[in-house]
Amino acid sequence: MRPFAYERAEDASAAVEALRERGKGARYLGGGTNLVDLMKLGVETPDALIDVSRLPLRAIEDTPDGGLRIGAAVRNSELAADRRVRERYPLLALALLSGASGQLRNLATVGGNLLQRTRCSYFQDISKPCNKRAPGSGCPAIEGDHRNLAIIGHSDSCVATHPSDMAVALVALDAEVEVQGADGARTIPLRSLHRLPGDEPQRDTVLEPGDLITAVELPPLAFASTSTYRKVRDRAAFSFAVVSVAAAVDVADGVVRDCRLALGGVAHAPWRAERAEEALRGQPATEDSFAAAAGAELEQARPLRDNAFKVPLARAVIVRTLTELCGA
Ligand SMILES: Cc1cc2nc3c(=O)[nH]c(=O)nc-3n(C[C@H](O)[C@H](O)[C@H](O)COP(=O)(O)OP(=O)(O)OC[C@H]3O[C@@H](n4cnc5c(N)ncnc54)[C@H](O)[C@@H]3O)c2cc1C
Ligand code: SF4
Repeated sequence: MRPFAYERAEDASAAVEALRERGKGARYLGGGTNLVDLMKLGVETPDALIDVSRLPLRAIEDTPDGGLRIGAAVRNSELAADRRVRERYPLLALALLSGASGQLRNLATVGGNLLQRTRCSYFQDISKPCNKRAPGSGCPAIEGDHRNLAIIGHSDSCVATHPSDMAVALVALDAEVEVQGADGARTIPLRSLHRLPGDEPQRDTVLEPGDLITAVELPPLAFASTSTYRKVRDRAAFSFAVVSVAAAVDVADGVVRDCRLALGGVAHAPWRAERAEEALRGQPATEDSFAAAAGAELEQARPLRDNAFKVPLARAVIVRTLTELCGA
């Protein structure tokens, strides 16, 4: 690992200023569970780390409208254990608990989790070309090992998937991300935070250099108390999603009044399944409706040579998840 400077900021403004002063080679450091691994691999070579893991952004607070505001330095384990999260947003607690391990979740922060990089093996191997790591060098995954890469929204430049489980739950909940940058504070809907790769796969998100995530806000959603997160993976632990589903439903008299559905492991961003949601609203809460909704979403899938299995898998996981959630 290359030598680097280390600095601990006292508050969010000081962190933004410290990063600006240090210049392009500086990075924010959360729990370090992704960034430090990438530094060991030579994928990231920062010359300075601004530690934001101990900023006074550790609170989970009720908002006046009945939602929650979660500080960016809240640890993944703290968030999963919070009683309000478990009762009001169980899909979020379950998504967090399905990720990594207890030790990692104790270190990992909300901000760092959202900005963790893809697990595409070529991205992590500096001896290989990769448009995301070295723009213009090519994408060996398209013809190579892409079994666990994207089936929706990918491009000729990159077919990577976004790895965060938490982000899938947050996108289903219409969360918003609070950001502090050089020009002050702003809010970004979580569903606009992560980009599809297009011809600029090096840009994972819409954030500008130096932007610091300070909080995530969850709006109130009464029916989120009937929600869940289901993750299919190659191993029962320490494994990223092959396909995952975050779902919340509002069913009355056997009819789906409203629903939220998002998919993980299928795209460069956590994928809000809007077409499925639209197909499901007003329909009877039956397996047939769930299958039709899954079909409406997955029509747009464009699987690669070795990952076509993800399409029927995603369909089955959506149907099973909704069936169990609705007790249908
Ligand atoms: C063995 C293993 C298994 C894993 N399994 C899973 C899994 O199944 N599911 C899953 O979702 N995750 C999994 N993870 C990933 C883990 O969740 C992430 O590494 C972790 O959430 C990253 O959080 P962090 O605080 O450590 O981020 P860091 O590593 O500190 O930072 C990650 C990135 O975010 C930036 N950053 C950090 N904080 C901020 C901020 N406040 N504002 C702006 N930028 C910031 C950093 O500069 C860096 O680019 C696994 C990791 C490991 C090592
Ligand atoms: S899929 Fe994306 S991350 Fe993977 S090799 Fe291609 S460009 Fe790189």
